[in-house]
Amino acid sequence: MFKKILIANRGEIALRIQRACRELGVKSVVVYSEADRDAKYVKLADEAVCIGPAPSSQSYLSMPAIIATAEVTDAEAIHPGYGFLSENADFAERVERSGFTFIGPTPESIRMMGDKVSAKQAMIRAGVPCVPGSDGALPEDPKEIIKIARAIGYPVIIKAAGGGGGRGMRVVHTEAALVNAVQMTRTEAGAAFGNPQVYMEKFLENPRHVEIQVLADEHKNAVWLGERDCSMQRRHQKILEEAPAPGIPRRIIEKIGDRCAAACRKMNYRGAGTFEFLYENGEFYFIEMNTRVQVEHPVTELVTGIDIVQMQIKVAAGEKLPFTQRNITMRGHSIECRINAEDPFKFTPSPGRITMWHAPGGPGVRVDSHVYTNYVVPPHYDSMIGKIIVHGDTREQALARMRIALSETVVEGIQTNIPLHRELMVDAKFIEGGTNIHYLEGWMSQHKR
Ligand code: ADP
Repeated sequence: MFKKILIANRGEIALRIQRACRELGVKSVVVYSEADRDAKYVKLADEAVCIGPAPSSQSYLSMPAIIATAEVTDAEAIHPGYGFLSENADFAERVERSGFTFIGPTPESIRMMGDKVSAKQAMIRAGVPCVPGSDGALPEDPKEIIKIARAIGYPVIIKAAGGGGGRGMRVVHTEAALVNAVQMTRTEAGAAFGNPQVYMEKFLENPRHVEIQVLADEHKNAVWLGERDCSMQRRHQKILEEAPAPGIPRRIIEKIGDRCAAACRKMNYRGAGTFEFLYENGEFYFIEMNTRVQVEHPVTELVTGIDIVQMQIKVAAGEKLPFTQRNITMRGHSIECRINAEDPFKFTPSPGRITMWHAPGGPGVRVDSHVYTNYVVPPHYDSMIGKIIVHGDTREQALARMRIALSETVVEGIQTNIPLHRELMVDAKFIEGGTNIHYLEGWMSQHKR
Protein backbone atom coordinates (compact mmCIF):
# COMPACT_ATOMS: atom_id res chain seq x y z
CA MET A 1 0.00 0.00 0.00
CA PHE A 2 1.05 3.59 -0.62
CA LYS A 3 2.47 5.64 2.25
CA LYS A 4 1.19 8.95 0.93
CA ILE A 5 -1.39 10.05 -1.66
CA LEU A 6 -1.88 13.47 -3.23
CA ILE A 7 -5.51 14.53 -3.68
CA ALA A 8 -5.84 16.60 -6.87
CA ASN A 9 -9.33 17.95 -6.28
CA ARG A 10 -11.46 20.13 -4.02
CA GLY A 11 -14.86 20.24 -2.30
CA GLU A 12 -16.65 17.26 -0.85
CA ILE A 13 -14.71 14.72 -2.93
CA ALA A 14 -11.37 15.97 -1.53
CA LEU A 15 -12.72 15.31 1.97
CA ARG A 16 -14.16 11.95 0.89
CA ILE A 17 -10.77 10.79 -0.45
CA GLN A 18 -9.01 12.13 2.63
CA ARG A 19 -11.31 10.04 4.86
CA ALA A 20 -10.66 6.92 2.76
CA CYS A 21 -6.90 7.46 3.07
CA ARG A 22 -7.18 7.89 6.82
CA GLU A 23 -9.11 4.64 7.19
CA LEU A 24 -6.45 2.84 5.15
CA GLY A 25 -3.68 4.32 7.29
CA VAL A 26 -2.31 6.28 4.31
CA LYS A 27 -1.13 9.89 4.70
CA SER A 28 -2.59 12.43 2.30
CA VAL A 29 -1.58 15.76 0.83
CA VAL A 30 -4.23 18.14 -0.44
CA VAL A 31 -3.59 20.81 -3.04
CA TYR A 32 -5.78 23.91 -2.95
CA SER A 33 -6.29 27.22 -4.71
CA GLU A 34 -6.23 30.59 -2.97
CA ALA A 35 -10.06 30.54 -3.01
CA ASP A 36 -10.12 27.30 -0.97
CA ARG A 37 -7.70 28.34 1.78
CA ASP A 38 -10.40 27.94 4.47
CA ALA A 39 -11.87 24.65 3.27
CA LYS A 40 -12.46 21.90 5.82
CA TYR A 41 -10.24 19.33 4.08
CA VAL A 42 -7.40 21.88 4.07
CA LYS A 43 -7.75 22.38 7.83
CA LEU A 44 -7.99 18.63 8.47
CA ALA A 45 -5.15 17.70 6.09
CA ASP A 46 -1.95 15.90 7.05
CA GLU A 47 -0.31 18.29 4.57
CA ALA A 48 -1.75 21.03 2.37
CA VAL A 49 -0.10 22.97 -0.44
CA CYS A 50 -1.48 26.06 -2.17
CA ILE A 51 -0.89 25.58 -5.90
CA GLY A 52 -2.24 28.80 -7.39
CA PRO A 53 -4.96 31.39 -7.71
CA ALA A 54 -8.71 30.76 -7.84
CA PRO A 55 -9.23 30.10 -11.58
CA SER A 56 -8.99 26.34 -12.04
CA SER A 57 -6.86 26.77 -15.18
CA GLN A 58 -4.14 28.08 -12.86
CA SER A 59 -4.66 25.63 -9.98
CA TYR A 60 -6.76 22.45 -10.15
CA LEU A 61 -6.07 22.05 -13.88
CA SER A 62 -2.36 22.89 -13.67
CA MET A 63 -0.55 19.61 -14.35
CA PRO A 64 2.96 20.96 -13.59
CA ALA A 65 1.84 22.45 -10.24
CA ILE A 66 0.17 19.20 -9.16
CA ILE A 67 3.01 16.92 -10.23
CA ALA A 68 5.63 19.22 -8.66
CA THR A 69 3.69 19.12 -5.38
CA ALA A 70 3.66 15.32 -5.45
CA GLU A 71 7.41 15.47 -5.98
CA VAL A 72 8.22 17.83 -3.09
CA THR A 73 5.85 16.12 -0.63
CA ASP A 74 7.03 12.59 -1.46
CA ALA A 75 3.57 11.39 -2.42
CA GLU A 76 3.51 8.09 -4.30
CA ALA A 77 0.13 8.28 -5.99
CA ILE A 78 -2.37 10.89 -7.21
CA HIS A 79 -6.14 10.60 -6.80
CA PRO A 80 -7.90 12.87 -9.33
CA GLY A 81 -11.46 12.67 -7.88
CA TYR A 82 -14.12 13.65 -10.46
CA GLY A 83 -14.19 16.58 -12.91
CA PHE A 84 -10.98 18.63 -13.37
CA LEU A 85 -8.18 16.29 -14.60
CA SER A 86 -9.88 13.00 -13.70
CA GLU A 87 -10.62 12.00 -17.31
CA ASN A 88 -7.60 13.60 -18.93
CA ALA A 89 -5.49 10.85 -20.50
CA ASP A 90 -2.52 13.21 -20.97
CA PHE A 91 -2.53 13.94 -17.24
CA ALA A 92 -2.64 10.23 -16.34
CA GLU A 93 0.27 9.69 -18.73
CA ARG A 94 2.33 12.55 -17.28
CA VAL A 95 1.66 11.34 -13.72
CA GLU A 96 2.91 7.85 -14.58
CA ARG A 97 5.88 9.15 -16.58
CA SER A 98 6.91 11.28 -13.60
CA GLY A 99 7.08 8.11 -11.50
CA PHE A 100 3.77 8.35 -9.61
CA THR A 101 0.75 6.06 -9.69
CA PHE A 102 -2.42 7.49 -11.22
CA ILE A 103 -5.38 6.25 -9.17
CA GLY A 104 -7.58 5.31 -12.10
CA PRO A 105 -7.46 3.38 -15.35
CA THR A 106 -4.57 3.39 -17.82
CA PRO A 107 -4.18 6.41 -20.14
CA GLU A 108 -5.19 4.12 -23.04
CA SER A 109 -8.53 3.23 -21.39
CA ILE A 110 -9.22 6.88 -20.53
CA ARG A 111 -8.43 7.94 -24.10
CA MET A 112 -10.59 5.25 -25.66
CA MET A 113 -13.59 6.06 -23.46
CA GLY A 114 -13.07 9.84 -23.70
CA ASP A 115 -13.81 9.69 -27.41
CA LYS A 116 -17.43 8.63 -27.53
CA VAL A 117 -17.11 7.23 -31.05
CA SER A 118 -14.26 4.88 -30.11
CA ALA A 119 -16.02 4.07 -26.80
CA LYS A 120 -19.14 2.94 -28.63
CA GLN A 121 -17.10 0.87 -31.06
CA ALA A 122 -15.33 -0.84 -28.15
CA MET A 123 -18.69 -1.60 -26.53
CA ILE A 124 -20.11 -3.09 -29.72
CA ARG A 125 -17.01 -5.33 -29.88
CA ALA A 126 -17.53 -6.32 -26.24
CA GLY A 127 -21.19 -7.22 -26.81
CA VAL A 128 -22.68 -4.30 -24.86
CA PRO A 129 -25.91 -3.04 -26.50
CA CYS A 130 -25.71 0.56 -27.78
CA VAL A 131 -28.24 3.15 -28.97
CA PRO A 132 -28.79 2.48 -32.70
CA GLY A 133 -26.82 5.04 -34.66
CA SER A 134 -24.15 5.86 -37.22
CA ASP A 135 -21.30 3.44 -37.62
CA GLY A 136 -18.60 5.73 -36.19
CA ALA A 137 -18.21 9.44 -36.96
CA LEU A 138 -20.49 11.02 -39.59
CA PRO A 139 -19.04 11.46 -43.11
CA GLU A 140 -18.79 14.87 -44.82
CA ASP A 141 -21.16 14.10 -47.71
CA PRO A 142 -24.67 15.49 -46.93
CA LYS A 143 -26.29 12.77 -49.05
CA GLU A 144 -24.63 10.09 -46.93
CA ILE A 145 -25.74 11.83 -43.72
CA ILE A 146 -29.35 11.92 -44.94
CA LYS A 147 -29.15 8.22 -45.81
CA ILE A 148 -27.88 7.34 -42.33
CA ALA A 149 -30.67 9.33 -40.64
CA ARG A 150 -33.32 7.65 -42.81
CA ALA A 151 -32.01 4.24 -41.83
CA ILE A 152 -32.07 5.15 -38.11
CA GLY A 153 -35.45 6.95 -38.26
CA TYR A 154 -36.35 10.38 -36.84
CA PRO A 155 -35.95 11.92 -34.34
CA VAL A 156 -32.18 11.59 -34.21
CA ILE A 157 -29.59 13.22 -31.94
CA ILE A 158 -26.26 14.59 -33.21
CA LYS A 159 -23.55 14.24 -30.55
CA ALA A 160 -19.96 15.43 -30.36
CA ALA A 161 -17.35 12.64 -30.09
CA GLY A 162 -15.47 14.74 -27.54
CA GLY A 163 -18.58 16.03 -25.71
CA GLY A 164 -19.21 15.93 -21.98
CA GLY A 165 -21.15 17.55 -19.16
CA GLY A 166 -24.37 17.47 -21.18
CA ARG A 167 -22.95 19.75 -23.90
CA GLY A 168 -22.47 19.21 -27.63
CA MET A 169 -25.81 17.57 -28.46
CA ARG A 170 -28.61 18.53 -30.86
CA VAL A 171 -31.94 16.78 -31.50
CA VAL A 172 -33.22 16.74 -35.09
CA HIS A 173 -36.84 15.96 -35.92
CA THR A 174 -36.98 16.45 -39.70
CA GLU A 175 -34.81 15.81 -42.74
CA ALA A 176 -35.03 19.51 -43.67
CA ALA A 177 -33.16 20.49 -40.50
CA LEU A 178 -30.57 17.69 -40.58
CA VAL A 179 -27.56 18.86 -42.59
CA ASN A 180 -27.54 22.30 -41.01
CA ALA A 181 -27.76 20.79 -37.50
CA VAL A 182 -24.79 18.52 -38.23
CA GLN A 183 -22.76 21.52 -39.43
CA MET A 184 -23.61 23.59 -36.36
CA THR A 185 -22.78 20.79 -33.95
CA ARG A 186 -19.45 20.23 -35.75
CA THR A 187 -18.50 23.89 -35.48
CA GLU A 188 -19.47 24.07 -31.81
CA ALA A 189 -17.70 20.82 -30.98
CA GLY A 190 -14.51 22.00 -32.67
CA ALA A 191 -14.52 25.18 -30.61
CA ALA A 192 -15.58 23.62 -27.28
CA PHE A 193 -13.75 20.27 -27.28
CA GLY A 194 -11.04 20.71 -29.93
CA ASN A 195 -12.58 17.83 -31.89
CA PRO A 196 -15.15 18.55 -34.63
CA GLN A 197 -16.15 14.89 -35.09
CA VAL A 198 -19.83 14.14 -34.52
CA TYR A 199 -21.94 11.00 -34.65
CA MET A 200 -25.65 10.23 -34.86
CA GLU A 201 -27.96 8.26 -32.59
CA LYS A 202 -31.64 7.47 -32.48
CA PHE A 203 -33.17 10.00 -30.07
CA LEU A 204 -34.99 7.94 -27.45
CA GLU A 205 -38.12 9.80 -26.41
CA ASN A 206 -38.85 8.56 -22.90
CA PRO A 207 -35.80 6.78 -21.50
CA ARG A 208 -34.53 6.52 -17.96
CA HIS A 209 -30.83 7.03 -17.18
CA VAL A 210 -29.61 3.87 -15.46
CA GLU A 211 -25.91 3.21 -14.91
CA ILE A 212 -23.79 0.27 -13.79
CA GLN A 213 -20.88 0.70 -11.35
CA VAL A 214 -17.87 -1.52 -12.01
CA LEU A 215 -14.62 -2.24 -10.19
CA ALA A 216 -11.66 -4.03 -11.76
CA ASP A 217 -8.12 -4.90 -10.76
CA GLU A 218 -5.05 -5.45 -12.91
CA HIS A 219 -5.28 -9.22 -12.36
CA LYS A 220 -8.24 -9.56 -14.75
CA ASN A 221 -10.88 -9.56 -12.01
CA ALA A 222 -13.91 -7.38 -12.60
CA VAL A 223 -17.24 -7.07 -10.80
CA TRP A 224 -20.31 -4.87 -11.07
CA LEU A 225 -21.87 -3.30 -7.98
CA GLY A 226 -25.48 -2.96 -9.00
CA GLU A 227 -27.09 -0.01 -10.75
CA ARG A 228 -28.08 3.58 -10.08
CA ASP A 229 -31.08 5.41 -11.46
CA CYS A 230 -30.08 9.00 -12.29
CA SER A 231 -33.09 10.02 -14.37
CA MET A 232 -33.89 13.14 -12.33
CA GLN A 233 -31.97 15.64 -14.47
CA ARG A 234 -32.12 19.25 -15.56
CA ARG A 235 -30.28 20.15 -18.75
CA HIS A 236 -28.68 16.68 -18.74
CA GLN A 237 -27.31 17.34 -15.21
CA LYS A 238 -28.24 14.88 -12.47
CA ILE A 239 -29.73 16.26 -9.26
CA LEU A 240 -30.72 13.12 -7.34
CA GLU A 241 -29.88 9.47 -7.67
CA GLU A 242 -31.02 6.19 -6.20
CA ALA A 243 -30.10 2.52 -6.01
CA PRO A 244 -31.56 0.13 -6.98
CA ALA A 245 -33.51 1.46 -9.98
CA PRO A 246 -37.23 1.10 -9.13
CA GLY A 247 -39.32 -1.36 -11.09
CA ILE A 248 -36.73 -2.91 -13.41
CA PRO A 249 -36.72 -6.74 -13.26
CA ARG A 250 -33.52 -8.04 -11.62
CA ARG A 251 -32.85 -10.51 -14.44
CA ILE A 252 -32.60 -7.64 -16.97
CA ILE A 253 -30.19 -5.73 -14.72
CA GLU A 254 -28.12 -8.83 -14.02
CA LYS A 255 -27.72 -9.51 -17.71
CA ILE A 256 -26.43 -6.02 -18.43
CA GLY A 257 -24.26 -5.96 -15.28
CA ASP A 258 -22.56 -9.20 -16.28
CA ARG A 259 -21.94 -7.77 -19.78
CA CYS A 260 -20.27 -4.69 -18.25
CA ALA A 261 -17.98 -6.77 -16.02
CA ALA A 262 -17.09 -8.97 -19.02
CA ALA A 263 -16.34 -5.85 -21.11
CA CYS A 264 -13.94 -4.67 -18.37
CA ARG A 265 -12.08 -7.98 -18.50
CA LYS A 266 -11.92 -7.84 -22.29
CA MET A 267 -10.57 -4.26 -22.26
CA ASN A 268 -8.12 -4.92 -19.39
CA TYR A 269 -9.89 -2.16 -17.50
CA ARG A 270 -8.53 -1.23 -14.06
CA GLY A 271 -10.12 0.83 -11.26
CA ALA A 272 -13.64 2.12 -10.75
CA GLY A 273 -15.84 3.00 -13.70
CA THR A 274 -19.43 3.60 -14.74
CA PHE A 275 -21.26 2.36 -17.80
CA GLU A 276 -24.06 4.83 -18.52
CA PHE A 277 -27.19 3.55 -20.26
CA LEU A 278 -30.54 4.79 -21.41
CA TYR A 279 -33.28 2.33 -20.48
CA GLU A 280 -36.51 2.21 -22.48
CA ASN A 281 -39.16 -0.49 -22.97
CA GLY A 282 -37.16 -3.14 -21.15
CA GLU A 283 -33.93 -2.56 -23.13
CA PHE A 284 -30.58 -1.06 -22.13
CA TYR A 285 -28.64 1.15 -24.59
CA PHE A 286 -25.06 2.21 -23.79
CA ILE A 287 -24.33 5.95 -24.12
CA GLU A 288 -20.93 6.46 -22.49
CA MET A 289 -18.44 5.25 -19.91
CA ASN A 290 -16.98 7.39 -17.13
CA THR A 291 -13.51 6.28 -16.13
CA ARG A 292 -13.51 7.77 -12.61
CA VAL A 293 -15.45 7.85 -9.35
CA GLN A 294 -18.89 9.47 -9.78
CA VAL A 295 -20.59 12.08 -7.61
CA GLU A 296 -23.35 9.55 -6.91
CA HIS A 297 -21.07 6.67 -5.79
CA PRO A 298 -22.36 6.74 -2.16
CA VAL A 299 -25.77 5.24 -3.04
CA THR A 300 -23.93 2.17 -4.30
CA GLU A 301 -21.73 2.12 -1.19
CA LEU A 302 -24.79 2.14 1.07
CA VAL A 303 -26.57 -0.74 -0.67
CA THR A 304 -23.48 -2.93 -1.18
CA GLY A 305 -21.41 -2.01 1.91
CA ILE A 306 -18.34 -1.60 -0.33
CA ASP A 307 -16.13 1.48 -0.04
CA ILE A 308 -15.54 2.41 -3.69
CA VAL A 309 -12.85 5.04 -3.00
CA GLN A 310 -10.84 2.65 -0.83
CA MET A 311 -11.15 0.02 -3.56
CA GLN A 312 -9.83 2.50 -6.15
CA ILE A 313 -6.76 3.05 -3.97
CA LYS A 314 -6.24 -0.67 -3.30
CA VAL A 315 -6.40 -1.74 -6.93
CA ALA A 316 -4.13 1.18 -7.94
CA ALA A 317 -1.62 -0.22 -5.44
CA GLY A 318 -1.76 -3.52 -7.34
CA GLU A 319 -3.97 -5.42 -4.88
CA LYS A 320 -6.54 -7.97 -5.99
CA LEU A 321 -10.24 -7.25 -5.49
CA PRO A 322 -11.08 -8.86 -2.12
CA PHE A 323 -14.40 -10.28 -3.40
CA THR A 324 -15.96 -11.97 -6.40
CA GLN A 325 -19.35 -11.30 -8.00
CA ARG A 326 -20.96 -13.99 -5.81
CA ASN A 327 -20.01 -12.10 -2.62
CA ILE A 328 -21.72 -8.90 -3.73
CA THR A 329 -25.25 -8.40 -2.48
CA MET A 330 -27.49 -5.37 -2.48
CA ARG A 331 -29.40 -4.59 0.69
CA GLY A 332 -32.24 -2.08 1.00
CA HIS A 333 -32.56 1.19 -0.89
CA SER A 334 -30.51 4.36 -1.03
CA ILE A 335 -31.22 7.90 -2.27
CA GLU A 336 -28.85 10.85 -2.70
CA CYS A 337 -29.80 14.53 -3.00
CA ARG A 338 -27.13 16.86 -4.38
CA ILE A 339 -27.19 20.11 -2.41
CA ASN A 340 -26.31 23.04 -4.65
CA ALA A 341 -25.74 26.68 -3.74
CA GLU A 342 -28.30 28.09 -6.17
CA ASP A 343 -31.77 29.53 -6.46
CA PRO A 344 -33.97 26.41 -6.11
CA PHE A 345 -36.29 27.27 -8.99
CA LYS A 346 -34.32 29.65 -11.22
CA PHE A 347 -31.01 27.77 -10.80
CA THR A 348 -28.86 30.92 -10.69
CA PRO A 349 -25.72 30.37 -8.55
CA SER A 350 -25.78 31.63 -4.98
CA PRO A 351 -22.20 31.80 -3.67
CA GLY A 352 -21.28 33.61 -0.43
CA ARG A 353 -20.99 33.12 3.33
CA ILE A 354 -22.98 30.33 4.97
CA THR A 355 -24.02 32.03 8.21
CA MET A 356 -25.53 28.85 9.66
CA TRP A 357 -25.02 25.19 8.71
CA HIS A 358 -26.69 22.32 10.48
CA ALA A 359 -26.38 18.86 8.96
CA PRO A 360 -29.03 16.17 9.49
CA GLY A 361 -28.36 12.87 11.27
CA GLY A 362 -30.02 9.76 12.62
CA PRO A 363 -30.29 6.16 11.43
CA GLY A 364 -29.35 5.60 7.79
CA VAL A 365 -28.28 9.20 7.12
CA ARG A 366 -24.89 10.12 5.63
CA VAL A 367 -23.73 13.64 4.79
CA ASP A 368 -20.72 14.17 2.52
CA SER A 369 -19.95 17.87 2.67
CA HIS A 370 -16.97 20.14 3.14
CA VAL A 371 -18.92 23.17 4.40
CA TYR A 372 -19.48 24.55 7.92
CA THR A 373 -20.93 27.64 9.60
CA ASN A 374 -19.06 30.73 8.31
CA TYR A 375 -17.66 28.90 5.27
CA VAL A 376 -17.67 31.09 2.18
CA VAL A 377 -18.80 29.28 -1.00
CA PRO A 378 -16.43 30.57 -3.70
CA PRO A 379 -17.98 31.71 -7.00
CA HIS A 380 -15.27 30.05 -9.12
CA TYR A 381 -16.33 26.40 -9.14
CA ASP A 382 -19.42 24.24 -9.49
CA SER A 383 -22.21 24.98 -7.06
CA MET A 384 -22.43 21.65 -5.20
CA ILE A 385 -21.84 22.15 -1.46
CA GLY A 386 -22.53 18.59 -0.38
CA LYS A 387 -24.71 15.53 -0.64
CA ILE A 388 -27.28 14.02 1.69
CA ILE A 389 -27.51 10.27 1.29
CA VAL A 390 -29.97 7.98 3.08
CA HIS A 391 -30.40 4.24 3.35
CA GLY A 392 -33.50 2.26 4.34
CA ASP A 393 -34.65 -1.35 4.26
CA THR A 394 -37.18 -0.36 1.59
CA ARG A 395 -37.57 2.55 -0.85
CA GLU A 396 -40.42 3.84 1.33
CA GLN A 397 -38.19 3.95 4.37
CA ALA A 398 -35.42 5.66 2.39
CA LEU A 399 -37.91 8.28 1.15
CA ALA A 400 -39.15 8.88 4.71
CA ARG A 401 -35.60 9.23 5.99
CA MET A 402 -34.75 11.68 3.20
CA ARG A 403 -37.81 13.80 4.01
CA ILE A 404 -36.77 13.95 7.67
CA ALA A 405 -33.12 14.65 6.79
CA LEU A 406 -34.09 17.51 4.45
CA SER A 407 -36.40 18.98 7.09
CA GLU A 408 -33.57 18.94 9.67
CA THR A 409 -31.00 20.55 7.36
CA VAL A 410 -30.37 24.26 7.97
CA VAL A 411 -28.37 26.39 5.51
CA GLU A 412 -28.56 30.15 6.04
CA GLY A 413 -26.87 33.04 4.25
CA ILE A 414 -27.06 31.54 0.76
CA GLN A 415 -29.81 29.91 -1.28
CA THR A 416 -29.82 26.16 -1.91
CA ASN A 417 -31.92 23.70 -3.89
CA ILE A 418 -33.17 22.02 -0.68
CA PRO A 419 -36.73 23.41 -1.22
CA LEU A 420 -36.80 21.69 -4.63
CA HIS A 421 -35.69 18.36 -3.13
CA ARG A 422 -38.34 18.69 -0.39
CA GLU A 423 -41.05 19.04 -3.04
CA LEU A 424 -39.74 16.15 -5.13
CA MET A 425 -39.73 13.84 -2.09
CA VAL A 426 -43.51 14.27 -1.75
CA ASP A 427 -44.27 14.21 -5.50
CA ALA A 428 -46.70 11.40 -6.30
CA LYS A 429 -45.00 10.33 -9.55
CA PHE A 430 -41.52 10.26 -7.99
CA ILE A 431 -42.87 8.27 -5.04
CA GLU A 432 -44.36 5.80 -7.51
CA GLY A 433 -40.86 5.42 -9.03
CA GLY A 434 -39.55 5.07 -12.57
CA THR A 435 -39.84 8.67 -13.82
CA ASN A 436 -37.85 9.36 -17.03
CA ILE A 437 -35.12 11.87 -17.93
CA HIS A 438 -37.65 14.51 -19.06
CA TYR A 439 -39.75 14.35 -15.91
CA LEU A 440 -38.06 17.13 -13.93
CA GLU A 441 -38.21 19.70 -16.71
CA GLY A 442 -41.91 18.92 -17.28
CA TRP A 443 -42.55 19.13 -13.55
CA MET A 444 -40.80 22.51 -13.38
CA SER A 445 -42.86 24.01 -16.16
CA GLN A 446 -46.00 23.01 -14.23
CA HIS A 447 -44.64 24.38 -10.95
CA LYS A 448 -43.53 27.77 -12.27
CA ARG A 449 -43.11 30.49 -9.66
P1 ADP B 1 -22.45 13.75 -21.42
O1 ADP B 1 -21.12 13.09 -21.53
O2 ADP B 1 -22.43 15.15 -21.95
O3 ADP B 1 -23.07 13.62 -20.06
P2 ADP B 1 -24.19 11.59 -22.44
O4 ADP B 1 -23.95 10.86 -23.71
O5 ADP B 1 -23.88 10.86 -21.16
O6 ADP B 1 -23.41 13.00 -22.48
O7 ADP B 1 -25.69 12.06 -22.38
C1 ADP B 1 -26.18 12.89 -21.34
C2 ADP B 1 -27.69 12.90 -21.31
O8 ADP B 1 -28.21 13.29 -22.60
C3 ADP B 1 -28.32 11.55 -21.02
O9 ADP B 1 -28.41 11.24 -19.63
C4 ADP B 1 -29.68 11.76 -21.66
O10 ADP B 1 -30.47 12.55 -20.78
C5 ADP B 1 -29.41 12.59 -22.91
N1 ADP B 1 -29.15 11.73 -24.12
C6 ADP B 1 -27.95 11.34 -24.63
N2 ADP B 1 -28.11 10.52 -25.71
C7 ADP B 1 -29.44 10.42 -25.93
C8 ADP B 1 -30.25 9.70 -26.89
N3 ADP B 1 -29.73 8.94 -27.86
N4 ADP B 1 -31.62 9.81 -26.77
C9 ADP B 1 -32.17 10.57 -25.80
N5 ADP B 1 -31.47 11.26 -24.86
C10 ADP B 1 -30.12 11.19 -24.91
